[in-house]
Amino acid sequence: MSNVPSNEQIQTAVDNAYAYAKTVQGGKNASYIPALAQVPSDLLAIAVVTVNGDILTAGSADTPFAIESISKAFNLAYVMDLIGMKELRTKIGADPTGEPFNSVMAIELHGGKPLNPLVNAGAMATVSLVNGSDSDEIWANMIHNFNNFANTALTVNQEIYKSESATNQHNRGIAWLLDSYGYFYNTPPMIVDLYTRMCSLNITTSQLALMGACYANGGVNPVSKKRVVKDENVSPILAEMCMSGLYDSTGDWMYKAGVPAKSGVGGGLVAVVRAKDADDAMRIAEACIEGGCAGIELTYTTPGVNAIIEKMAREYDGTDFVIGAGTVMDPETARMAILSGAQYVVSPYFNGDTVRLCNRYRVACMPGAMSIAEVV
Ligand code: GLU
Repeated sequence: MSNVPSNEQIQTAVDNAYAYAKTVQGGKNASYIPALAQVPSDLLAIAVVTVNGDILTAGSADTPFAIESISKAFNLAYVMDLIGMKELRTKIGADPTGEPFNSVMAIELHGGKPLNPLVNAGAMATVSLVNGSDSDEIWANMIHNFNNFANTALTVNQEIYKSESATNQHNRGIAWLLDSYGYFYNTPPMIVDLYTRMCSLNITTSQLALMGACYANGGVNPVSKKRVVKDENVSPILAEMCMSGLYDSTGDWMYKAGVPAKSGVGGGLVAVVRAKDADDAMRIAEACIEGGCAGIELTYTTPGVNAIIEKMAREYDGTDFVIGAGTVMDPETARMAILSGAQYVVSPYFNGDTVRLCNRYRVACMPGAMSIAEVV
């Protein structure tokens, strides 16, 4: 039985969350970028895009707003694909700063290193790593990447861009400071301009949800079916979001929500819930095999795992590859696993009936027992 919620269940959750969020007062628009202060603060929308590409919304999900810092989590994909996660960690870093999003002190405290690509310093340094011989070419690469994630041609909100360009002295200072320490990889004024343009991109809540769904779907856009980021880079990007997606409030967010997310001062927030279904498990299993694993244990915590065991057992029949079943809680499940093709059974505790059943089928059973007394 699958524990992935149905679209109806998701829609109900979205509607409930929307009704609740409507009642929440407090908070205020960011005003250090003057044009953001003018955005109607009662605008509200929630959108969920599933890995099947279904979209469920509530509120004004098609109203555009400035993407701001959420863009950092997607430009990062482009640069990580370009230079690899190892080099990105060396050139930018992968640790929370523990300081506000535009902290200069964080840079000073860490020998001039931006520390992570989701604070302003690291995000601008990330933009400075985008390839291209001039500003136009760099922008063309950046916008192409964003359009692939959103599956549409995004445009710059000129009013926000102008307003932010006129007031971004602090970011300009950060860029020069990084440059002075050798942690900036292109000309500061040009890069700050491109970064500001990227932050001024208009996005709707529905489009943003699709962008996030690309990560949930292992780097493939669930609507266009195009790969937008290498599979191997999805986890490190989500790890960055877990560490610094909401800057120095990320810990609070993770306590409450527990999923990687990225905020923006334009009022948006994107969160990623990775797929946990049969397809996902199949992909992971195949990656393990490709990576040289001699066997795999598929656990009953995965929805639809029986079908996967069956499919893999068929596929690897007659080979040395060993397929086992894990988190087998009772003899009924053990029987199901064995009939599906499991060659060994693992259970988290000792159950005599499970062991006897496995014995009957001549299948190895490995129960988790803390002491001999539990077994005899
Ligand atoms: N463009 C904004 C800045 O650089 C982004 C900040 C944010 O959204 O958190 O200040």
